[in-house]
Amino acid sequence: MLEFTSKAALQHYLTIKKNDNCKIGFVPTMGALHMGHVSLVKASNAQSDITVCSIFVNPTQFDNEEDLRKYPNLLRKDRQKLISNDCDILFRPSINEIYPNGKDIVDPPDIGYLTTILEGAYRPGHFEGMMQVVELLLSIVEPNFLFMGKKDYQQLAIVRKMVELKGINVDVIGMSIIRETNGLAMSSRNARLSSKGIDVALVINETLRSTDENLENFTLDELVKKAENKLGKREGLKLEYFKIVDRDSLNEPENMNIKTKLVALCAAWVEGVRLIDNLELGN
Ligand code: AMP
Repeated sequence: MLEFTSKAALQHYLTIKKNDNCKIGFVPTMGALHMGHVSLVKASNAQSDITVCSIFVNPTQFDNEEDLRKYPNLLRKDRQKLISNDCDILFRPSINEIYPNGKDIVDPPDIGYLTTILEGAYRPGHFEGMMQVVELLLSIVEPNFLFMGKKDYQQLAIVRKMVELKGINVDVIGMSIIRETNGLAMSSRNARLSSKGIDVALVINETLRSTDENLENFTLDELVKKAENKLGKREGLKLEYFKIVDRDSLNEPENMNIKTKLVALCAAWVEGVRLIDNLELGN
């Protein structure tokens, strides 16, 4: 695996490969890699000639100082995981390399309501920072394919919209959530949970699953209420939201009787760690 910290050096190398007709797959991450990230690398390997994985903990998308400060840095382990999964290039730029002119967000694309609902309502500025860095990284790597996880369901929808609005020439590919055998969605933040905290967090996936199992038995309003009750009762968990929305628009469906193309999305705090998870219903 080649490793670059300089965007100019990476671009120089990739230009040569692109001139050789190589297709480039790109997997942007913030490191502390787990099997969820690895699944993106594997998907990229299967579809591209060269897989570039970036590790960059983007300060502009953190709405919480402590979350940024505590974000795990496991470079040596990450490198090993990437090597053993045949990643071709690791790009790990410094903050100065990405933001040579400062971190201010100039001219964020207007994605409309998508950035203000759900996560956007609880994490002001998060999606603007995320779009800023994804756009910059895409302009450096200029990949053919961009691999992102459905774990960050709204992020994926926003990136698709941004790519469309900005006319960026890349195929955005959304990949399934990878879970622990106990159902917990893999996340770099899970490392901050104690075993008791993990036990508490399991109720999130359990609730998503029971919502899916009950889809035909209750109205959507009833399903949301049941979920809120179950999550609200779990000691040690602070629910932010549980919503059932349309998979494309991420709006609550106008016709509550039509139960196709829905996704249930949840955010909650456990032991000071903010967890998100979701499940496409009726699959
Ligand atoms: P992060 O390092 O958290 O910024 O995530 C980098 C990419 O990995 C994003 O596209 C995430 O959606 C994706 N990802 C994170 N966790 C998972 C998971 N459990 N399953 C699948 N993809 C994931």
